[in-house]
Amino acid sequence: MAHTAATNFFGIVVRRQRYKERDALVTILTKEYGFKTFLVRGTQGSKSKISGSVITFSYGDYSGVIKDEGLSYLNSASNIKQFDEIIKDIELNAYATFLFDLFHNAFIDDPLPDEWYRSLFKALLYIENGFDAQVVVDIMQMHLLQVFGVAPNMDSCVVGGETEGRFDFSVILGGIICSKHFDADIHRLHISERIVYFLRLFSKINLDQIGKIEIKENNKDMIQHAIDSIYEGSVGYYPKSKKFIDDMKTWHI
Ligand SMILES: [Zn+2]
Repeated sequence: MAHTAATNFFGIVVRRQRYKERDALVTILTKEYGFKTFLVRGTQGSKSKISGSVITFSYGDYSGVIKDEGLSYLNSASNIKQFDEIIKDIELNAYATFLFDLFHNAFIDDPLPDEWYRSLFKALLYIENGFDAQVVVDIMQMHLLQVFGVAPNMDSCVVGGETEGRFDFSVILGGIICSKHFDADIHRLHISERIVYFLRLFSKINLDQIGKIEIKENNKDMIQHAIDSIYEGSVGYYPKSKKFIDDMKTWHI
């Protein structure tokens, strides 16, 4: 849909870069039009009214001209709030940025279906409110596999359909695999039943249930490792922002 007149939309600011002397390029994940990059004029001036509304991790009602191709234009903003904790904390910031990148890779420039937009917004709220950002992102990652067209079979053995027994995960075959059929994939993940349990749980639960999950720190690393392998082997790539998270983890040592 081409718009030449200004239109109102809800959005979350995903990225902001300075542009030329006085302006900014602001990427907003709009509810109505998907990811859009806006030229916002005069953001560098001290009197700019709009500058504070286009800080990364702001959200609210915006108004502007949406273009199908190239830059859109932002005119004004109202009811703007910010994910303050995410803005302040470099680690939360990194997870939220990775989440935006995953969603952008999954949906490209199409508008997000309503339930996915809500789900992303909810994930940001949970991160903002102190829930474990890594677990929030892991859950979203398991859910997003279906959008990438590689939803794994988490219900029964991908080879023989068994629903009971000891299970591992096969990236190549796309799901859980029972011990009878381990020979079918020698490169299966070789993860413990506990980790398989969490992968299944994450793929099925709603974010609202996150408060009930308790995971030991070393299990979290193993879950992450498994999800990384699933993404690398089935989706095929990761956004660059994932590398920042991996690097960040080494800072704690
Ligand atoms: Zn089997």
